[in-house]
Amino acid sequence: MPAYELLIDGQLHPAEHYLDVYDPASEAWLGRAALASPEQVEQAVAAAHAAQASWAEDPALRRHSSARAAALVREHAEALAELVTREQGRPLRFTTQEVAGVAATFDHYAALEVPAAEVLQEDAERVVRVVRKPLGVVAAITPWNVPLILLVLKIAPALHAGNTVVAKPSEHTPLSTLLLASLLKDAFPAGVLNVIAGAGEVGEQLVRQPQVRHITFTGSVATGKRLYGQAAADLKRLTLELGGNDPALVLDDAQVPAIAEALFWGAFWNSGQVCFAIKRVYVHQSLFEPLLQALVERAERTEIGHGLNPNSELGPLTTAAQLQRVEALVEDARRQGAEVHTGGRRLARPGFFYPPTLVSGVNAGVALVDEEQFGPVLPIIPFTDLEDAIAQANASPYGLGASVWTSDPARGEAVAARLASGLAWVNQHLHIHPGAPKGGQKWSGLGYEGGARGYDAFSELQVVNTLRR
Ligand code: ADP
Repeated sequence: MPAYELLIDGQLHPAEHYLDVYDPASEAWLGRAALASPEQVEQAVAAAHAAQASWAEDPALRRHSSARAAALVREHAEALAELVTREQGRPLRFTTQEVAGVAATFDHYAALEVPAAEVLQEDAERVVRVVRKPLGVVAAITPWNVPLILLVLKIAPALHAGNTVVAKPSEHTPLSTLLLASLLKDAFPAGVLNVIAGAGEVGEQLVRQPQVRHITFTGSVATGKRLYGQAAADLKRLTLELGGNDPALVLDDAQVPAIAEALFWGAFWNSGQVCFAIKRVYVHQSLFEPLLQALVERAERTEIGHGLNPNSELGPLTTAAQLQRVEALVEDARRQGAEVHTGGRRLARPGFFYPPTLVSGVNAGVALVDEEQFGPVLPIIPFTDLEDAIAQANASPYGLGASVWTSDPARGEAVAARLASGLAWVNQHLHIHPGAPKGGQKWSGLGYEGGARGYDAFSELQVVNTLRR
C-alpha cells in the first residue's frame, strides 16, 4: 500500500517522518501515514486562515463543494470502507454503512440553506438583525473507533457555516482519513480543508495556534479535560464528545426474546468500541437468568473474524492497548469474585481478537462497572427495586447514553426521563436521528454535535443595529 500524505493548502504533502499502521486483525503492516512536522502544522493553519474570508463569502460554493464531496465519497465508497475495515477492524458490512453515512452527511449540508439573519426589529426607525458569522479556523480532532463518520460530522457543518478546517485523525487509524482527504482535495478550494496526521503532540500543537478559534474533539475524557484547559488560555470555543458508561435498564415486563438481539448489538457493535454503547446492564431479578442465557447464546454464535470476511459480525479490537485494557478489567473482575459466563480470554490467533464476554457477580466498586471498558465485555447486574436501579444507573461521572427495555413504551419513557444522559432510548440503543443534538452530561461532553444545535456551535452571532433616520 502506498504512503498516505497530508492535505495542506490544496496539495498532498509528503513528510520527513512516517507512522506505520498495522491491521489489527492480522498484525500485518498496512501502510504508512505522513507525520506532520511542527512547520507543517503551522502551514496547515496558515492555509486555512488565508482561505477563510473568501470561503465565508460564498454560501453557494460551500453547498456545491459539499455536494461534490458526497459524490466523490460515493464514487470511492468501496476503497474507503475497505480501508476503515483494514485499519480499524470493523467488518465491511458496517464500514460500508459508515461510508454511506459520510456521503449522506455531505448531502445534507449540500441541501441545507445557509440560515438567514434573524430580524428582531424592522420599522421606519430601526433595523435590528442577528447575523451568524463563522468563527474562523476550526481544529477537528478525531478518535479511532469510527474514524470517517466522526470526522465528517464535524467538518461538514463547520465548512458549511463558513469556517475553514484543519483536521487531525487518531494516530491509530490515520490512513482512511488521509485517503478521504486525497479525494476531498478536489471538492474544496485550496486551504479550506486541511488534514494533518500525528499523535497527541500534533493535536496539542494544532490547538495552540492562535488562528484556531474553535476546537471540536471526540475522544477520551482525559484528553477532553486537557483541551478544555488549553482552550481557556485563549478563550477558544470548543465542543467535546467524550466517553460514556451507558446503562441499560431491563424492566420486569420486558420480553427477553424480543429484546435480546437489539440489546446484544447495543453493547457489542464494533466490539463495544463506541462511546454510547451499552456498558452496564441492570436487569430485574425475575429476568436475570433468561436474559443472561439469551445473551450467552447470541454471543456464542457470533462470527468473529477478519472484517473483510463477509461472514464476520465482529472484528478485532483496534489496538493492542485496548485489548490489554479489556483483559485487565476481566481479570480484575474475576479476582473480585465475578462469574464469566462466556468469552473471557483473547482468542488464540494473530490479531487483537476478544470474544463477546458476559460477566455477572459484579457491582459498583468493581472497575468493570464503574469505568468505561470500551470493549466487548458486558456486566449484567440484577435488581429488585427499580428506584435503586435508577440510582445506580445515575451514580456515574458519565452521562452520555442510557436505555430502558420494557413492553410498555410509556413506562419506558417515564423511566428514561429520569436517567442522567444526553441520549436516552426505549427498547433500542445506538439509533441517532440525523437531526439529533448529540451531547453528553457530566464528564461525557460539552456542547452538542449534530442537528441545528450542533450547527450553531460553528458560528458566532453579531447583532447589527441600524438607525434609519
Ligand atoms: P484514545 O486514548 O482512545 O486514543 P485520545 O483522547 O487520546 O483517545 O485520542 C483522541 C484524539 O485526540 C486522537 O486524535 C489523539 O491523537 C488526540 N490527542 C491525544 N492527546 C492530545 C492532546 N494533548 N492534544 C490534542 N489532541 C490530542
